[in-house]
Amino acid sequence: MDSWLTGAALRRRFFRLRAGVALFLVVLALASTYAAWKVVTVRTREYVQDQAAETLAVQAEVLNGVLEKYRLIPPLLARQDEVALVFANLASRDYVRKIAGNLAEEIAGLSGARDVAFFSADGELLAAARDIFGDEPAGRAELMRAAQENRLGRTIALLKGKSRVYAFGSGIRRNGRLMGVVAVYVGFDAVERTWALSDNPIFVTDGGGTIFLSNRENWLLKPVSEIDARFSAERGRAQTHIDVMRDLPLMGWQLHVLGDRSRIVSAQSAAIGISLLIFLLVAVIAFFLIGRIEDRLRLRRRERAQALRLERAVRDRTRALSLANRNLSHEVEERKEAERELKRVQRELIQAAKLAGVGQMAAALSHEINQPLAAIETYAANTRKALTLGKGEIAEGNLDRITAMVARISELSGTLLAFSRKPATKSQPVAVQAALREALILIRPKADRAGVSIEVDPALGGVMVDAGRIRLSQVFVNLFSNAIDALDGRTDGLIRVQLKGIGEWVHIEVSDNGPGISPDVAGEVFEPFFTTRTGQGSGLGLSIVYNIMQDFGGGVRLLPNADGAVFELWLKPAE
Ligand code: ADP
Repeated sequence: MDSWLTGAALRRRFFRLRAGVALFLVVLALASTYAAWKVVTVRTREYVQDQAAETLAVQAEVLNGVLEKYRLIPPLLARQDEVALVFANLASRDYVRKIAGNLAEEIAGLSGARDVAFFSADGELLAAARDIFGDEPAGRAELMRAAQENRLGRTIALLKGKSRVYAFGSGIRRNGRLMGVVAVYVGFDAVERTWALSDNPIFVTDGGGTIFLSNRENWLLKPVSEIDARFSAERGRAQTHIDVMRDLPLMGWQLHVLGDRSRIVSAQSAAIGISLLIFLLVAVIAFFLIGRIEDRLRLRRRERAQALRLERAVRDRTRALSLANRNLSHEVEERKEAERELKRVQRELIQAAKLAGVGQMAAALSHEINQPLAAIETYAANTRKALTLGKGEIAEGNLDRITAMVARISELSGTLLAFSRKPATKSQPVAVQAALREALILIRPKADRAGVSIEVDPALGGVMVDAGRIRLSQVFVNLFSNAIDALDGRTDGLIRVQLKGIGEWVHIEVSDNGPGISPDVAGEVFEPFFTTRTGQGSGLGLSIVYNIMQDFGGGVRLLPNADGAVFELWLKPAE
């Protein structure tokens, strides 16, 4: 069965399977129960019949044997001279009776017959061995008739009570004349005693259909038809026995043995019961197995469905992920591009801001150049005069001063030129002092004009950091420029640059004794375009400082709770 069926289809299919199996089992159970019933019926009937037949055969022999034994005794006795002598002198009847009585007793004793009797030719009972007869000796008429017809007499005889005997009689003839009759009576007590051992009813019917021998005492002397009905009624069922019968032609009798049919019935019910039980067991096993199979299929189906769901989820997720990945890498590319662009724009901005700063300082710087130039002019005129006056030492002194001023101008213009260049983007070892010197050359004219003095910590001499010289000067120029702006109008303005420590980092502080920065805006001063000097400031100075320090891998922060503004810088020491 397919494991990809839906749950409902699976259920339907198993319902059909169960119904089919149930129907099949019911039909099979009925058929085989019927077959078992049939076989058992036939077999048991055969068995019962066989048993009855066996009993019948044995009992028939017994009966035949008994009768056969006594049948020959009367003819033999009749031929005996001794017997004939008894009847020779019938005149003295008392004598005859005595002799006959003795003889009868003797014969009865020897043969085991129930009785032996002698009758005279006219039918008078002369003597009998035992007194078994009533007034009328049983079967006398028949015996006499047979003797007269010169044949062996035989008859059933009833005695007192229900006792039955069979009589054989033979005529005693001498010279063709019937002298008397000798009769031998056979009792059936022994036979009936044997039969009593059998469970099966056994009986003998005579030619008239009357039962006169049986192991059931109350059946005796009843017509067989009545017994049939009675026996059936007794068992409460119609036809409760199997009648096995045999003719005993010698006596014109029939010997019956009744096989008990209830054995067949109980065998039948046992067969039906066992067959149904077996099928019940088979059904239980079959349904159990079907249940197991269904469970297993259901489990397989669930597992498969789960696996499919998982597979689908993984596929969907993978697709979504790879899409996201593509988008992400695209975005990363864009970001990188944007970052590169930002860096480039930032560099441009820094450069522009630097140049703008230079522009702002232009007045001071040009003053710084114009002043020595004017002085040089004056010294040159004086020198000329001194030379015409022949005052060589004065001229020489003037020339020395002129040389010094030219040197100053060229240093300033050289620094300006270097500062205005586009800086390198890579970091390298830089002497902090060199950057400071450059910044001071550029800022001093502005500081001087504002009357602000700048103090540099001598400890900074020789300190090398990982940075760029031009960019580091720009940091200082911006910080100094801000401080000078804040100190404008003060006479005691002072800017300090101090080394605060060298370790993992080089810490440098740039402080001033100006008004400081209010805590309200402290968080924003490094933001681009943040300025409190509307109209004058661009708001880029500190943001550029921040970016340059980031580029160096260092940083800058505003120290809180300080008098004036204090900026702390940290840089990696150069190796
Ligand atoms: P700008 O100088 O063009 O205004 P900056 O980014 O350099 O822009 O400075 C931002 C603001 O920080 C200034 O407007 C100023 O209010 C404040 N500031 C910077 N340095 C100092 C300082 N040394 N003392 C007081 N305030 C300062």
